[in-house]
Amino acid sequence: MIHTAVLKKEVLEYLDPKSNENFVDCTVGEGGHTEEILKRNGPVGKVLGIDLDSHQIASSQWLQVQFSDRIILVRDSYANFTEIIERKNFGPINGVLLDLGMSSAQLEGTQKGFSFKVDQGLDMRYSDETNYLTADKIVNEWSEDEIAKILQNYGEEKFAKKIAKNIIEQRKLGRIKTTFQLIEIVKDATPSAYWTTRRVPRIHYATRTFQALRIAVNDELENIKKVLPQVISKMAPDGRIAVISFHSLEDRIIKEFFNKKAKEGVIKILTKKPITAGRDELGKNPRSRSAKLRVAIKL
Ligand code: SAH
Repeated sequence: MIHTAVLKKEVLEYLDPKSNENFVDCTVGEGGHTEEILKRNGPVGKVLGIDLDSHQIASSQWLQVQFSDRIILVRDSYANFTEIIERKNFGPINGVLLDLGMSSAQLEGTQKGFSFKVDQGLDMRYSDETNYLTADKIVNEWSEDEIAKILQNYGEEKFAKKIAKNIIEQRKLGRIKTTFQLIEIVKDATPSAYWTTRRVPRIHYATRTFQALRIAVNDELENIKKVLPQVISKMAPDGRIAVISFHSLEDRIIKEFFNKKAKEGVIKILTKKPITAGRDELGKNPRSRSAKLRVAIKL
């Protein structure tokens, strides 16, 4: 397994799986969190594991060997939460986990152009079965304004306009096909001080552009907005919802949603401030660096 589950101890502490309780892992990935839940909710408690990426579903099939019919795997988007739960006749639901974004296996082990460390085609789809929009399409076919807007809104990239302009210039010379071409275009559009930033933790100058494209391709922020209310309405009383996010745009959506539902008296927030990784985990798992966990309980 390439991927190490983030904030595992903290997630378990808050989800607090007890004998025979049922959980939904909306982003089962390689099964890191789900395994720990299944170790605690026997003998008949179940986990419904959802993932958009069929390769990720294949990667968590090992759970079926160990836990047989206590694990149910579904390849679908968590945006279809209610429909999946009803189709599988799953419940009562005592807890739900969302570990957003992508896994290290997707970042490093696929040919989809998620990483700016390797030269690959510009795809960035979690699922090529259901999604037709690719990063290639955005970069080569969208207007300058549309590109600038996603770099701004999904990347919070301060050179959004300059980068978008350079993309349009460069594609006149031929289709922009690879991650390395795109990185050069970003470099060319930004001042040299931006390439060797002194910010801590250091981020690569193309990070925000790549993040923005990935969010746009997979419609990530919309999907988060869609799933949260469905989870709250489907959970049993005392059900716990735990969400791990990896950048401020995601975290803001979760925080605002929790605050609104808490005010309405529907949930109680269990994490006044988001939980972040301890020093130990930070040293071992780079993905934990920007992770924030928020948890609430249904009243
Ligand atoms: N907790 C997992 C890792 C999750 S990584 C583990 O411990 O192994 C995030 C996962 O979310 C990825 O596998 C990705 O394919 C999946 N994902 C992203 N968007 C999704 C969506 N809309 N619906 C379902 N899964 C999604």
